[in-house]
Amino acid sequence: MTAQPSLMWFRQDLRLRDNPALTAAATSGPILPVYILDDTNSAPWQLGAASRWWLHHSLSALDKQLENRLMVLQGDPLEIIPALAAKFGIRKIFWNRCYEPWRSKRDIRLKRALKETGLSVTSSNASLLVEPWLNLKDDGTPYKVFTPFYRRAMSKGIDLASVLSAASNPKLIPADLPADKLDALGLLSEVNWHSSFFESFTPGEAGADKKLACFLENGISNYKQGRDFPGLESVSRLSPHIHFGEIAPHRIYKESLELGELRGIESESDHFGRELIWREFSYSLLHYFPSLTESNMNRSFDGFPWQRDEPLLRAWQTGQTGYPLVDAGMRQLWQTGYMHNRVRMVVGSFLVKNLLQDWREGARWFWDCLLDADLANNTASWQWVAGCGADAAPYFRIFNPISQSEKFKTARYIRQFVPELAQLDDKHIYEPDVAPESKLTAAGVKLDENYPKPIVGLKTSREKALGAYQQLKARNRA
Ligand SMILES: Cc1cc2nc3c(=O)[nH]c(=O)nc-3n(C[C@H](O)[C@H](O)[C@H](O)COP(=O)(O)OP(=O)(O)OC[C@H]3O[C@@H](n4cnc5c(N)ncnc54)[C@H](O)[C@@H]3O)c2cc1C
Repeated sequence: MTAQPSLMWFRQDLRLRDNPALTAAATSGPILPVYILDDTNSAPWQLGAASRWWLHHSLSALDKQLENRLMVLQGDPLEIIPALAAKFGIRKIFWNRCYEPWRSKRDIRLKRALKETGLSVTSSNASLLVEPWLNLKDDGTPYKVFTPFYRRAMSKGIDLASVLSAASNPKLIPADLPADKLDALGLLSEVNWHSSFFESFTPGEAGADKKLACFLENGISNYKQGRDFPGLESVSRLSPHIHFGEIAPHRIYKESLELGELRGIESESDHFGRELIWREFSYSLLHYFPSLTESNMNRSFDGFPWQRDEPLLRAWQTGQTGYPLVDAGMRQLWQTGYMHNRVRMVVGSFLVKNLLQDWREGARWFWDCLLDADLANNTASWQWVAGCGADAAPYFRIFNPISQSEKFKTARYIRQFVPELAQLDDKHIYEPDVAPESKLTAAGVKLDENYPKPIVGLKTSREKALGAYQQLKARNRA
């Protein structure tokens, strides 16, 4: 008798190695591998444009690994999975868990419905080092502060073995699939704004492995200091690969710590491991506080007097603020789908504090433009920057884009993304509006012609932001 096929539902685990659901499915018999683009249950958090580009290429890579047998569909999994089970005579369904609130809600409903019809569903963990419910305080409540969350995770130890395994070589059931199945999803925008993404990234499991190898070879040895300097190659750029599950954080964690020990650079690798745990912390926050995506975690910020201003928002989005570091960051985002963490903090602070625009506007723009757009990390980070999040930067800590430029030696970075300033020397590139006219002319810079004057003054906008904060506090006291 031939074994009954199982259904492996790929979601944010687009890889064959270290994939517990796939391993479990493969040991149970032949499998039908399926991906479903779900724009129904995800509303209002359907994938942004940059993420769609990534997904297209990641699915294409996975499909090749699966000998073009990946079934790619679009619609509501609550309808599609039961229909596939009926069509292919499937009794067992396997998936790895996802944690965004809309996904958890959908999966709970689907699991219940499938079980009611006698099907078995097995879910596994493939993407978190510590699932939220495994890292709670003694009283069973979730952490709202990072350091104790981190200490707790370290003292309990991370279970790596349950995820790390050899690549699965599943037996696939024959399926007659159209050659244009991926194009039919329409993930690629018609506007060719993403042409340069390939210069920095190769979506897919092989691309993720290469990025990790490159980071372990070059970046990690100076991670602790270097990670703050946007002009250095000291960060891993693994974030989109991690988000789409092309590599397990368990593998990254293990290989980086082992290398740290081997080379005697534990302080670098430990620091990197700590950053990986920040992601876990964001996931825990989103799991326990699902309204985080829309509401201030610290509700005392609810009456904050944001001053919506379309032209200011547009100048920020397009990198035309007159502050070179902010503009370089926003253009890096647009051109490469990525932005360095230090610059994410600077542009975030500038939008929310100097321009007094609601953090949700920034989070939305990032959601659409980032290749690593991640509901947990993006939301928690924006709330951190705005001062209203868990364990957030205090509101009155307003990053000064000029002193940040100087401190983290960003001249090279600015030259790369703001070419109209490329000829200015290091002394003047951070603040072109106060450069002597002769320097500007020699460098071909014409303020308000080929590069804008600052759209707000730093001193006045800082005072205005602090005033708004005082206003909020007074309102809350009244
Ligand atoms: C306003 C703002 C928005 C952000 N939005 C996102 C987002 O949508 N998606 C996203 O993955 N990260 C986001 N981050 C966090 C951080 O900027 C990125 O994870 C990091 O820059 C990714 O680059 P990397 O892989 O080279 O990082 P590395 O320094 O090499 O770190 C390795 C991994 O650790 C995790 N990590 C590192 N720093 C952080 C952090 N501060 N918080 C949480 N996890 C971290 C990421 O998974 C990252 O890939 C945001 C930060 C800010 C300030």
